[in-house]
Amino acid sequence: MAPTHEVLNQPPPLQDYDVFGADAALVEATEREGAAWAVEDLSVLGRLAGSPEAISWGFDANRNPPELRTHDRYGNRVDEVVYHPAYHELMQVAVGHGLAGAPWAVDRPGAHVARAAGFITWQQVDPGHFCPVSMTYSVVPALRHAPELSAEWEPRLVARAYDPRNVPGPDKPGVLAGMGMTEKQGGSDVRANTTRAEPAGDGSWLLTGHKWFCSAPMCDVFLMLAQAPQGLSCFLVPRWLPSGERNAGFRLQRLKDKLGNRSNASSEVELDRAVAWPVGEEGRGVRTIIDMVGHTRLDCVLGATSTVRQATAQAMHHAAHRSAFGKVLIDQPLMRVVLADLAVESEANTLTALRLARAFDEAARGDEGADAFRRVACAVGKYWVCKRQPTVVGEALECLGGNGYVEESIMPRLFRESPLNGIWEGSGNVICLDVLRALAREPLALDAFLAELDAAAGADRHLDAAVARVRTELGDPEGIEARARRVVEAMALALQGSLLVRFGHPAVADAYCASRLARDEGFALGTLPSTIDVGTIVERAQPKVS
Ligand SMILES: Cc1cc2nc3c(=O)[nH]c(=O)nc-3n(C[C@H](O)[C@H](O)[C@H](O)COP(=O)(O)OP(=O)(O)OC[C@H]3O[C@@H](n4cnc5c(N)ncnc54)[C@H](O)[C@@H]3O)c2cc1C
Repeated sequence: MAPTHEVLNQPPPLQDYDVFGADAALVEATEREGAAWAVEDLSVLGRLAGSPEAISWGFDANRNPPELRTHDRYGNRVDEVVYHPAYHELMQVAVGHGLAGAPWAVDRPGAHVARAAGFITWQQVDPGHFCPVSMTYSVVPALRHAPELSAEWEPRLVARAYDPRNVPGPDKPGVLAGMGMTEKQGGSDVRANTTRAEPAGDGSWLLTGHKWFCSAPMCDVFLMLAQAPQGLSCFLVPRWLPSGERNAGFRLQRLKDKLGNRSNASSEVELDRAVAWPVGEEGRGVRTIIDMVGHTRLDCVLGATSTVRQATAQAMHHAAHRSAFGKVLIDQPLMRVVLADLAVESEANTLTALRLARAFDEAARGDEGADAFRRVACAVGKYWVCKRQPTVVGEALECLGGNGYVEESIMPRLFRESPLNGIWEGSGNVICLDVLRALAREPLALDAFLAELDAAAGADRHLDAAVARVRTELGDPEGIEARARRVVEAMALALQGSLLVRFGHPAVADAYCASRLARDEGFALGTLPSTIDVGTIVERAQPKVS
């Protein structure tokens, strides 16, 4: 049969490229922040992330979401989640490339930076499977509050071995960790947790209650909060007991039917005298688990950075191959401004993410100044980078026109994913209030944060004014709780401006300062002032397919 028409003016898929190497801002930041030694390995991962096979794993793992299996065929409880093979392929790469607990076992400065760059690279294939990867990375410092448990579990949490079997932890070369804080009556306000903990008399405890969101329930071990006689406390809950039996009091009730994040299972758990062991001091559960939450917040920044970069790369690629009204879209003056604005946001995020990762890296090596900086800067970055994510991804989607609204383009998946980093690990308001709390309680944190801003003093008058605004906002305690979003937004903009002016591409830094800091922009993206060198910005961010 003769074809009715020739297929014209449709872009080729964005594939067969080095997702890491094609991102100039990411490569430069990785080298600058202390992980130049990892660049070759990251390019290997980047090429894998850009391969048609890996891209198809991302699609398959989302098209075939995990299924809950509460019982076996004979009626015995099994409490298992069954994943599509593509999910296991994704996990294999993530754990195998050291994106889970591995940096804690690498005695080399920059290990956490290298992981951050790998996270931003590989997460572009599928954000969902990063949930257990992130929790496994983050659990290590919290678990160290219980040296005996840490000695038992840490070697397998940091191993680069993914073993999805539902068998006792000691039988596996590598294990994964999850987290159970949120309950029906409260997530942000964890002190409202009602799950009870009672001593079993042999050093273990028994937890009774529920967890309303417990993601990646096939993890081998979880940190959970529960009310002990001395107050809210942190416990380790394994799926299997040392006796080799299932921890039968840990029961999966349902999986959530979520907006996005479909490759990841998020469950509701019933705890019926589930066996647990205490981590940290009784009554100081929040203090203990915050060491985990601090790291998962970093991963929210990395995740949002990764998704914004993927969305920007897709928009750039489409515009470079699609023509309308006699010109390739990327050469249409108005489209260039939109693309440049996306690129500015993406580069600002990348610099923020990798700078934070370096602070975590230095803090892990005992640097108190870095620890103070990270404490406040991570919350600031988490608020802003995640808050902007849906706006930026939505604009990138529109660059693909109707194709962007169709699942095969990946854009709907990125869009559905985009509000999540803003919700978990502290939703917007809670994060902003946490910034104020950190500043009030830890004077070193404010000094460290301001020192980072001041490092760029005199380089750009708009930045100088933005830093002055931060000082004014912080210097006025009147009604500061209601102003928390204003304050934290000002801090975030000044931080990104300071990083871009010192380390970003000059054209990107100029665009950022003129638009975000001098406020010479509209409410929508694509409203950069006409003085900006949009051509250079677009050229730099274009993903080059070799
Ligand atoms: C896909 C997914 C997976 C998840 N996985 C896990 C998991 O594995 N483990 C886990 O423990 N949790 C998990 N969560 C839960 C998540 O961390 C919580 O939903 C989140 O912390 C918010 O808690 P909440 O839902 O109870 O909302 P609430 O705490 O009720 O907050 C509702 C709103 O009120 C705001 N708010 C709260 N307090 C204040 C205040 N003082 N002032 C002003 N505003 C305020 C919040 O910012 C938010 O916007 C998951 C959530 C999702 C969506």
